[in-house]
Amino acid sequence: MKGRKLLMIPGPIEFEPEVLQAMSIATDSHVSPNFIEVFGNSLELMRKVWKSPKGQPFIISGTGTLAMDMAVSNLIEKGDAVLVISSGYFGKRFKDILECYGAHTTILEAPVGEVVSLDEIEKELKSKQYKALTITHVDTSTGVLIDPKPISELAKKYNTLSILDGVCSVAGEKINQDDWGIDIVLTASQKAIGVPPGLALLMVSEKAIQVWKNRKTPVGNYYADWKNWLPIMKAYEERRPSYFGTPPVNLIVALEVSLKIICEEGIDKRIKRHQNLAEAFRLGIDALHLKRLPVTNELAAHTLSAIYYPEGVDGASLSAKMNASNVIIAGGLLSDIKSTYFRIGHMGAISASDILSVLGALERALIELGIPIESGKSLQAFQNKLIQM
Ligand code: PMP
Repeated sequence: MKGRKLLMIPGPIEFEPEVLQAMSIATDSHVSPNFIEVFGNSLELMRKVWKSPKGQPFIISGTGTLAMDMAVSNLIEKGDAVLVISSGYFGKRFKDILECYGAHTTILEAPVGEVVSLDEIEKELKSKQYKALTITHVDTSTGVLIDPKPISELAKKYNTLSILDGVCSVAGEKINQDDWGIDIVLTASQKAIGVPPGLALLMVSEKAIQVWKNRKTPVGNYYADWKNWLPIMKAYEERRPSYFGTPPVNLIVALEVSLKIICEEGIDKRIKRHQNLAEAFRLGIDALHLKRLPVTNELAAHTLSAIYYPEGVDGASLSAKMNASNVIIAGGLLSDIKSTYFRIGHMGAISASDILSVLGALERALIELGIPIESGKSLQAFQNKLIQM
């Protein structure tokens, strides 16, 4: 499409045309047999994407923050100790939500671009009994990826529940919920799941459901209480009509389409595609002599990249130049260093051709802003890597 903008922010992302078409069909009744089938099927497909055959899926109208709120409000009671493992802005959001429900939090914060070490986490878990710990798989503010597997193993060792914020990772980064023993993996629709904003998605382990059932005090959040939603999820999965709050019918129709696309591609293949594109993109960025936030490649997410502006370039002028080339990028998010970096999302339906457009636009923008780089260098680095893969 001429003049079409390429939305390269880390969510919402570019969506598949079939998903967008599904959004525009006539809205069905939330208790029609057709929609019940779509809802039930979406719940079943979620288990494949999360690799959680035993998990209890939830599809709720709301954003990723509601998914975090739902996890916390159902599992945590006033006075519970919770360990927050943070590598940026969204780690700290967990602390705020937890404190809202009276949890006693301890936060382990990584320096910018790094992750908290396993030794530090184990030391803290040994020091007292924590009810739960939270992990941000990819902190979208820094583009840092943490490996949740050894952390969830530590959580199990110390009899602590694990909650993974997978908002910027589910369907884009490797996740094996049941094998890794993570109690909740949550996300939102607008990222690698590939559906416009508006859905909070959670997968909850049998153990976490049991912990919720054994609560001593009622859940302090009416809308998020699993008491209201668990029977609805069970009914849709058993293909029975039910009602608590009207589900966002069109979004869920679109979700089924997107989950089918993800499963047709194959979840492992999809993760590999994200890894390959991200790795090649990083080489393109390196060829422009730009510095990235994650301090090592192992810590760099495959769903987005966070990149420092070169000296002499400010956010507003770079964004404007990129916009003029029809590429939308995001600014920084981490408050202390917000104005020093920008972010480019590369998840979901994104292809190698989209990334070539981004690198091309970025090269032109930097050259026009007076940065001495040679045009074509980043494209060449990207292409060479892809050809080798
Ligand atoms: N966690 C992470 C890692 C995120 O990237 C975001 C959104 N950017 C959220 C939580 C919150 O999601 P939402 O904006 O949908 O509430």
